[in-house]
Amino acid sequence: MCIFCDIAEGKIPSKKVYEDDLVLAFDDINPIAPVHTLIIPKKHFDDVIDLSTNDDGTYLKACMETIGKVASAKNIESGFRVINNCREDGGQTVMHVHFHVIGGVKLTEKML
Ligand code: 5GP
Ligand code: ZN
Repeated sequence: MCIFCDIAEGKIPSKKVYEDDLVLAFDDINPIAPVHTLIIPKKHFDDVIDLSTNDDGTYLKACMETIGKVASAKNIESGFRVINNCREDGGQTVMHVHFHVIGGVKLTEKML
């Protein structure tokens, strides 16, 4: 069982931001900024390595295209950050690949 598969299938409710046949974007349950939305492929991939290795590009492309839709829907086109935590050392806690879209405030802490 995978909690994000359950969210993608509507078995667990979520605050949807955008949805189509391939992807779902929904608000994080524990936001770290005024805007904190997660983008997931509706097909299960464990992590970004799995997605970038075993997808033919369909879901990867759909996830990336959703970034702009979330930015528009959330009115954060002045700027935001996209984060993927990958596997244990990357701090990934839900093993269904997801991209965090974080914004709604001027972000200052930078790792790069
Ligand atoms: P990770 O640490 O794996 O990169 O991020 C997992 C994220 O999923 C966390 O920010 C956490 O708050 C969020 N999350 C975990 N369970 C749920 C849930 O049931 N619903 C929603 N909306 N977010 C969740
Ligand atoms: Zn899953």
